Amino acid sequence: MEKFNYLIVGSGLFGSTFAYCAKQAGARSLVIDKRPQLGGNVYCENTEGINVHKYGAHIFHTNNKQVWDFVNSIVEFNRYTNSPVANYKGKLYNLPFNMNTFYQMWGTRTPAEAEAKIAEQKAEAIATLNGREPSNLEEQALTLVGKDIFEKLIKDYTEKQWGRDCKNLPAFIIKRLPIRMVYDNNYFNDKYQGIPIGGYNKLIEGLLKGIETHTGVDFFTEYKDNWRDIADKLVYTGAIDEYFGYKLGKLDWRTVSFKTRIEDTPNYQGNAVVNYTSHDQPYTRIIEHKHFEMFGQSVYDNPKTVISEEYSTEYKEEMEPYYPINDKRNNELAEKYRQLTTYEKDVIFGGRLGQYKYFDMAPVIEQVMEMFEKK
Ligand code: FAD
Ligand code: UDP
Repeated sequence: MEKFNYLIVGSGLFGSTFAYCAKQAGARSLVIDKRPQLGGNVYCENTEGINVHKYGAHIFHTNNKQVWDFVNSIVEFNRYTNSPVANYKGKLYNLPFNMNTFYQMWGTRTPAEAEAKIAEQKAEAIATLNGREPSNLEEQALTLVGKDIFEKLIKDYTEKQWGRDCKNLPAFIIKRLPIRMVYDNNYFNDKYQGIPIGGYNKLIEGLLKGIETHTGVDFFTEYKDNWRDIADKLVYTGAIDEYFGYKLGKLDWRTVSFKTRIEDTPNYQGNAVVNYTSHDQPYTRIIEHKHFEMFGQSVYDNPKTVISEEYSTEYKEEMEPYYPINDKRNNELAEKYRQLTTYEKDVIFGGRLGQYKYFDMAPVIEQVMEMFEKK
């Protein structure tokens, strides 16, 4: 049989987009995945007519029009806008921190009132720093939004999520949280956001249409030694340390586990995402999946709903590797592995696991598009 141009390991967004672009360029690929299904972490399982985000809730957002047009050419996206709500000891607050949150927290009505309140709240922390930069997440949060917001909306949530005290976490984690002096609950600043109509599986199906795929196949047991017999090049989106047999040591990951259940009500929490920001609940948030794709009356057309409690979990063997750990040991080790990839001439290392870097979906697609533009 004629050789494939590419053997693609992993059918997540990196692998699937690569296969699609390669096909457009006239190349043949074989895509394999060790999971029983295609799609990597964006795969959804249909339960009670609802697309359940099995590997974590995924919201597509980007500022890149080319990427947005590309994904919409595969499947049209809906108008879902992420606007999570925080529940702190039974009281609800809008996120991200905006004029609604400040009103709920302090009763302030105008930006001037809110600014004055925030200034008062953070004064003590700023004075304590005495001119130096915040050196940890707690200091960063206290000097950014002050005491009340830190204590009610940040401290416990962050400790649950990262399993560490806010004083022992890097400041940059919190810089991602936008603060808005307008009444706007849209979590993202990007121009475009949404969910594929019909779910993420439609996006993956569209990308992989007409491409040969095998699921339930592990690269290391089936192809590691002989892939050159079947393909000219390898596109590898599995874990970078595993590719090299962990010869420099193992990289650490942070993972999340989900407790998913069906509820016998059409509308459990009225929002896709509710964060639980105190230690009263062991989970960080509850996802109600139908709200990503059902709006207005259609929420009630389905009498049931599916919810997932999300627990941040220490990574152990056999768990899903989700988030790279950004500490010195792991950054240095990952860099050493990245150096090794330069000797693997016929191999392209891509995606989240293959590069040991956290990427949102859009940047992954952008990377692949750029690779083919250059070619
Ligand atoms: P993956 O989707 O992980 O795909 C890699 C594939 O490779 C997997 O299917 C795996 O089974 C396969 N594989 C690995 N090793 C082997 C092997 N040895 N043999 C065969 N197959 C193998 N991004 C956003 O833009 N918005 C969000 O809201 C968002 N939420 C997220 C929530 C969570 C919990 C996580 C973890 C990520 C989230 N992301 C989000 C990021 C998004 O998941 C990634 O950008 C995307 O999955 C990257 O695709 P990928 O192809 O690199 O990796
Ligand atoms: N965060 C918080 N309270 C919230 C939501 C987020 O304190 O209700 C903090 C938390 O430290 C988290 C960071 O903001 O790690 C980034 O959150 P985001 O939801 O943007 O990132 P993700 O959880 O998707 O990594």
